[in-house]
Amino acid sequence: MPVYNFAAGPAVMPQPVIAQIQKELPSLNGSGMSILEVSHRAADFDRIITDAEADLRVLMQIPDDYAVLFMQGGGTGQFAATPLNLATHHQRIAVLDSGQWATKAAQEAQKLGRQVDVLASTKCEHYTQLPVMPGALPVDQYDYLHICANNTIEGTAFRELPDVGTTPLVADMSSNILAQEYNVRDFGLIFAGAQKNLGPAGVTIVIVRKDLVRQVPGLPSMLDYQLFMDKRSMSNTPPVFNIYAVGLVLKWLREQGGVAEMQRRNEEKAGKLYAFLDQSRLFHNPVRPADRSLTNIPFMTGDAQLDATVVVAAAAAGLMNLKGHRSVGGLRASLYNAMPLAGVDALIDFLHAFEQHH
Ligand SMILES: *Cc1c(COP(=O)(O)O)cnc(C)c1O
Repeated sequence: MPVYNFAAGPAVMPQPVIAQIQKELPSLNGSGMSILEVSHRAADFDRIITDAEADLRVLMQIPDDYAVLFMQGGGTGQFAATPLNLATHHQRIAVLDSGQWATKAAQEAQKLGRQVDVLASTKCEHYTQLPVMPGALPVDQYDYLHICANNTIEGTAFRELPDVGTTPLVADMSSNILAQEYNVRDFGLIFAGAQKNLGPAGVTIVIVRKDLVRQVPGLPSMLDYQLFMDKRSMSNTPPVFNIYAVGLVLKWLREQGGVAEMQRRNEEKAGKLYAFLDQSRLFHNPVRPADRSLTNIPFMTGDAQLDATVVVAAAAAGLMNLKGHRSVGGLRASLYNAMPLAGVDALIDFLHAFEQHH
């Protein structure tokens, strides 16, 4: 019986990448040494991190005036790093409150002494739709506007970006980087923890317009964009294995046809599941159709007991980790790039059969 992993993160990785890791693990490039024991100063690793950056640049068409950084500390680390590095002039940022991850980002910036203005929030709608900018963003008041591009917990995603004028836009893309096309030029900074759509947990990608990065006195080295930029993310020991694994995922993505092809597949996968949920008499998705995520799809029956029964029965059928986030309840299917269409078909067949029997 095939097993499909619908976890929100750490999450499914491409099978060919896992097979390649297994094959290469004892000896990297015939060196007799494992990637697990290779020095970050070795030529082999230099090639790995250089290739990973180059492949990401091709996949996202990252312009030369943007830096790519490989950091640690996850999305949560960036909730601190971004205000510490970029909110240095006005010491004031704007946030669109689209859910729990945007709220966490706002709280962290506040904790670090920044003024945080929440311009719009859909909390009262239980975040089942995206907040809309109340009007034009005032010029030269904010160091940046923060959005969460894809709301992993609530199942919404920005397709159209808010109009920020000349204020930099910062996007948390932890759960939809490389799942759908964005124009990097629309952003001052993009960050993403790897464990949703890029690889194993432990490395965090930051893509930042170089002119926004400056020397900020007093920063912890591990959160210092200027230092990571100057030292090519190797001022201290980077997460060697994680960067290697992300690099393999990026090569796999290029072989598959890149982000445009991923978006096409993700629209097909998500479209099928939404179509099933919208006609189902047992299950429903609460999100406003125009704001629905391609990668994270919450759904429920309306009866918490029955939802729990579905999760257990699904796991017995090889459909794993469908329990919804505790704050939303119900179920959630995460359909990242590595989830094949066959997994979505199996899920729909299972839900359909379950519905017939209840
Ligand atoms: C998972 C997630 C985070 C938190 O990531 P950590 O690496 O656990 O800190 C932040 N933002 C979004 C959108 C996420 O999905």
